[in-house]
Amino acid sequence: PVPEPLRLSPGIGPEEIEFRLARFAPVTLTYDAGLLAEEDRRVLASLLRAAVWMDSIFFVQVSPRNPEWWLELAEADWPGAVAAREYFRIMFGPWDRLDGNRPFLDVGPKPPGAGFYPPDLTKEEFERHLAEHPEDREAFTGYFTVIRRERGRLRAVPYSEAYRPYLERAAAALREAAAETSNPSLRRYLELRAEAFRTNDYRASDAAWMELRDHLLEPTIGPYEVYEDELFGYKAAFEAFLTLRDPAASAALERLAAHLPELDRRLPIPAELRGRPRGLESPIVVVDEIFAAGDTKAGVQTAAFNLPNDERVRAEKGSKKVMLRNVIRAKFETVLAAIADSVLRPTDRARLAFEPFFTVILVHELAHGLGPGFIRGPDGAETDVNRALRDLYAPLEEAKADVVGLWALEVLARRGVFEAEFVRAAYLSHVPNLVRSVRFGAASAHGRASVVEFNFLKERGALRVDPETGRIAVDVGRMAEAIEALAREILTVQGRGDYEGARALLSRYGGTPPDLRAVTARLREIPVDIRPRFEVEGLGARVASRWPM
Ligand code: ZN
Repeated sequence: PVPEPLRLSPGIGPEEIEFRLARFAPVTLTYDAGLLAEEDRRVLASLLRAAVWMDSIFFVQVSPRNPEWWLELAEADWPGAVAAREYFRIMFGPWDRLDGNRPFLDVGPKPPGAGFYPPDLTKEEFERHLAEHPEDREAFTGYFTVIRRERGRLRAVPYSEAYRPYLERAAAALREAAAETSNPSLRRYLELRAEAFRTNDYRASDAAWMELRDHLLEPTIGPYEVYEDELFGYKAAFEAFLTLRDPAASAALERLAAHLPELDRRLPIPAELRGRPRGLESPIVVVDEIFAAGDTKAGVQTAAFNLPNDERVRAEKGSKKVMLRNVIRAKFETVLAAIADSVLRPTDRARLAFEPFFTVILVHELAHGLGPGFIRGPDGAETDVNRALRDLYAPLEEAKADVVGLWALEVLARRGVFEAEFVRAAYLSHVPNLVRSVRFGAASAHGRASVVEFNFLKERGALRVDPETGRIAVDVGRMAEAIEALAREILTVQGRGDYEGARALLSRYGGTPPDLRAVTARLREIPVDIRPRFEVEGLGARVASRWPM
């Protein structure tokens, strides 16, 4: 039979696909090439040649049919085909990641297991196979295999075999980069990573990534996150981040981190509820993204990541949080500034600036490491807050990181670390950011946390929606007190491991009020995220032209 030609899904016209595409504002991500010496440039060129293959692999991880659809779209001339092809490039396939993965092209629903399993595989068939073949469990549930059905029998195929043509080329480019660098820790990571692409064993190279030292180029390449596998959450998706460390920003961050022990002692929480602190948190580095590929580039852009995911490596070497500053800046300038135009009063809008906003994001990350970690449960045994608060932990922890971070800014301002005006600008930048998170929906931990903060700050008179203009009026003078009060409430619930208290707090403050709903309803035309182009793509046309075959 002749296959049906590809077309838009019923109910999605050319205007709708144009509208969806316009929600991603095109931005060129730049970096300071002047920081790179001649050697770094050669290393970078090789790393780029390795990274582009992560696009190719992820493309077939999403669906093995993606290449044929992509080629067909290139020939299509129906109305909306050009926008549909660009949207397909953003989504890495025909399913809309901003619309619960519903198809925008008429290809049917996305298999929950993406391209990692046979599309018709059910959980029951998978479990039945494991019951009958217990020796297959490790391979079948591993991060680095795909499941295929061959002559009616399920088989786990290692990534090193399933994606061999791509991985061999990527490994060759990594070895070239390794040969060009004079940094021993970078050489070691790149050589071990190239080796992992062949052996399918990623542990040693994950550890070597944690041991990178005295380097400017910070590459991260390989199979990492498991979100694309919605069937079981077992299978890791390929991606790459090629980034440039910012020594000045990292030093400023270290100066902030030096205050953490003092901040932890001064937290607004009764002494008996402090519990045992969380131990060493992961180091944070600030970088600019030179190039990204694969999983991370699909849909909404990653602003920060925390890797590796292998628990054995985390137990031995810890993990590392990487903040992508130029990505965060691009989101600030396109999305957040536009939201602020719409929701803040003009005098407040005028005080919005990137540095205070970025500092709020940094202290949010640092604040995750503050407060009770290990506590006494109701039975007297030690447990951690996460286990005690279960499904309510994530939204509460995100709200905690927000308010404890802002609280810390105020404390540090009294120490002379920040100017008072800087802290006021930070408060103001947090308000449009709350509105931005609410847009992603109350189902997400960040969205729910933001609604709680909005309602609490409103109750304390720190902000209100002006009924005439529909804009949010911020009373900066009341912010500090309201923020400390909310920090105290959340930290107390966490310190007690009080599940019922968490539920009461979330149900009292967790509903989206009509005034906030009206504020977010006005944002329909404002971009949701950025559509990155990389400055470096303009320098080497070969980088772009390989995508995505
Ligand atoms: Zn967070």
